[in-house]
Amino acid sequence: MQFLFAVAASTAVQRGALWWAAHHRKHHKESDKEKDVHSPHTHNFLWAHIGWIASPKNFETDYNSIKDFAKYPELVFLNRFNKLVPAIMAIGLYFLGDWAASQWASLQTSGWQILIWGFFVSTTLLFHGTSTINSLAHIYGKKRFDTGDHSRNNFWLALITLGEGWHNNHHHYMHSARQGFYWWEIDLTYYVLKIMSWIGLIHDLKPVPARVLEEGRKIDSEN
Ligand SMILES: [Zn+2]
Ligand SMILES: [Zn+2]
Repeated sequence: MQFLFAVAASTAVQRGALWWAAHHRKHHKESDKEKDVHSPHTHNFLWAHIGWIASPKNFETDYNSIKDFAKYPELVFLNRFNKLVPAIMAIGLYFLGDWAASQWASLQTSGWQILIWGFFVSTTLLFHGTSTINSLAHIYGKKRFDTGDHSRNNFWLALITLGEGWHNNHHHYMHSARQGFYWWEIDLTYYVLKIMSWIGLIHDLKPVPARVLEEGRKIDSEN
């Protein structure tokens, strides 16, 4: 399942999953400080949104900061050859569209149409969705927990990013599998993970400790 998650992550065309993990851990360590790789506060909005991922100075993966993942050779392989899965997907989509067009003329589709919508347009939209967490979720929204950074909880961003928008929660207690801490904080990713755990595909989902939930409730009732 870990490998399949990494393959799925590779289809996002945002470099390798391990590359992301290494940079993400640094973000948590240095959130909104000088060394944060994508802070809209110590850098600027455009850098936080797109500049950091496009800059050659951030191309390397620091395997030392993700030793727990780097011990899996298949993950390191996917990370090293992170263009492989996107290339297979793009070519596959082209031929799928081409095949569908030859089977059902009434669909009026083509290989190019499926490639452009299924790969280029979707990848661009996904990229901007992901990036809102680095840029907008450190500017707009509510700050429930005093995390020492500018992370926010934002309902709209949580909808767009399937749960990641509860970013202040996440910075406060990053070990939990869920980012929406309460039932009214919609977190689609967590629901999918939960269902997968019921089926037995994954296990040991880390919960939010009762003391953290209580702390949040107390803060909410005071505001
Ligand atoms: Zn953050
Ligand atoms: Zn995080």
